[in-house]
Amino acid sequence: MDLIKIEEILKKESSYRLKQIKKAVFSDLIEDWNQATTFPRNLREKLSESCQIKELKEEKTLISKDKQTVKILFKLKEGSIIESVLMKHIDGRRTVCVSSQIGCKIGCKFCATGQKGFKRDLTTSEIIDQVLFFARLLKKDKENITNIVFMGMGEPFLNYDNVISAIKILNDKDGLNIGARHISISTAGITRGIEKLTAEPLQINLAISLHAPNNELRSKLMPINKAYPIEKILTAVDDYIKKTKRRVMFEYLMIDGVNDSPIQAEELAKLLKKPLYFVNLISFNPIGHSDFKPSSGWKIKKFKEILIKSGINVTQRYQFGKEIRAACGQLAGRE
Ligand code: SF4
Repeated sequence: MDLIKIEEILKKESSYRLKQIKKAVFSDLIEDWNQATTFPRNLREKLSESCQIKELKEEKTLISKDKQTVKILFKLKEGSIIESVLMKHIDGRRTVCVSSQIGCKIGCKFCATGQKGFKRDLTTSEIIDQVLFFARLLKKDKENITNIVFMGMGEPFLNYDNVISAIKILNDKDGLNIGARHISISTAGITRGIEKLTAEPLQINLAISLHAPNNELRSKLMPINKAYPIEKILTAVDDYIKKTKRRVMFEYLMIDGVNDSPIQAEELAKLLKKPLYFVNLISFNPIGHSDFKPSSGWKIKKFKEILIKSGINVTQRYQFGKEIRAACGQLAGRE
């Protein structure tokens, strides 16, 4: 839903109309302007003609066997497909993972999206629509979205303005009212984006997709590392921490025989031993990849132990929706 377009339509209307519209869309979660029965008929008609509430069409729904993960393939107006995922955590959190671009320019070797090329940035309303879809879905079970992560298709910092303007609307108390501290952006390390975020008055979380303890390996896995090497990223992260005093997560996919040896764990510990840094170990999802395999459970355990012994804060991510390819870096329109 395009709020700027709506503001234009409402130019001649009284000022409380915009507030009413936001309530109808973000709180009552209407799907059609005709459901906004408190609006005069001519306004509903005008809105229906010029501004769709739902810009994305659900093309396919995939639900994991344990029903904790729902992946939706959305069709955009030009026919492209994007994917978004809802993860239902045991502790009650309801996290939506959204896409920020159609495809991705970054080209990470382990990522299905990265191998498919790039089409275009998503608009602010296309980003918001993904979230609204799941808000409506959860409403049926009297549940709400608690967290939003920008970890779907695309590099959020290469679509900075649209991503930040979507976050501001989602965070707004007249919007979806999701607390900034419950919204996370994950970047491959676009330092320009980290620097811009540092200057924003927004308390959102920052995550860095690191996946390697040194530049040599990282450049092989993530060619973007040549432009944004680890030292450059860490300098930007340190400035971010200095200004915001917020923790930063370093995501590390555990890939068998590639980045999971004890020596690499020690190298990683040396690199990331700083206050407010923490590492999130993620088991690699092999579905759809022939070159890489996931590290075994004991290797991940050993790797984690070395990090902990070295004084690193470590978390391990539960893998949602493995069989429906809902994992990070696997949202790629394979279907
Ligand atoms: S992992 Fe993220 S940044 Fe890398 S290619 Fe995939 S979508 Fe792009």
